[in-house]
Amino acid sequence: MTLRSKLIALYRLQIVDSKLDEIAGRRGDLPTEISSLSEEAERIEEELERSKNSLKNVIEAIDSTDSDISMLKENIKKWKRQLTQVKSNREYDALQKQIDEANERIEELTEKRGQLIKQQGELEETIKDYEKELKKLRDELEQKQSELREIDAEIKDEEEKLFKVRERLVKDVDPMLLKRYQRVKDLLGTLAVVPINQGACGGCGAKVPAQRVVDIWQNNKIYTCESCGRILISDDIYNEAINSVKLSSIK
Ligand SMILES: [Zn+2]
Repeated sequence: MTLRSKLIALYRLQIVDSKLDEIAGRRGDLPTEISSLSEEAERIEEELERSKNSLKNVIEAIDSTDSDISMLKENIKKWKRQLTQVKSNREYDALQKQIDEANERIEELTEKRGQLIKQQGELEETIKDYEKELKKLRDELEQKQSELREIDAEIKDEEEKLFKVRERLVKDVDPMLLKRYQRVKDLLGTLAVVPINQGACGGCGAKVPAQRVVDIWQNNKIYTCESCGRILISDDIYNEAINSVKLSSIK
């Protein structure tokens, strides 16, 4: 296999790889957005759960305060009735003291009740806010997930076809050359093989010396751009590869 045909095979592979990258790119930021929305929704759900528990505790505390107050009031009524029937001052004073203490306790409990009612209102407000926020997040999440599902469904066939084409093409690529290609591609995250474009690297635009351009056209040796490290090919190879891969037929 001549170097010329090796380079053509490599460039053909890159055409398919670029198409695959482009297709995968159609998902855009959706996967990242979806995972951050899910995390946010989970966080709000936890906060909401915590607030609901607090509200439950506050309501229970109000109920128990209410029953304490009514019990105290009942006692006071009872003691007031007893006041009219006491036989001694000592008994009278003792009952009166009980009544005073109970009234003080009622005052304390009423104040506490007021604070609990305020807490209840605040918690109900917080819960409403969390629920609103959660609904918004879930709607947004649902929308993005359905967008992604749609894109995935669109992409699936095309990707599968291209993977098959790639499998076929990769067999023609020299293993050493493939390694080199993969290394540059991983490093740059984009095209690893580029044609010379008006005396410059088709990737980074660095000038390629005239003699080097002539050498590249000879296809005796692999040359890389001194500036970006991409493998440089002649227009001849570029055109040959482009014409032999009919991407339109893959679609
Ligand atoms: Zn370059």
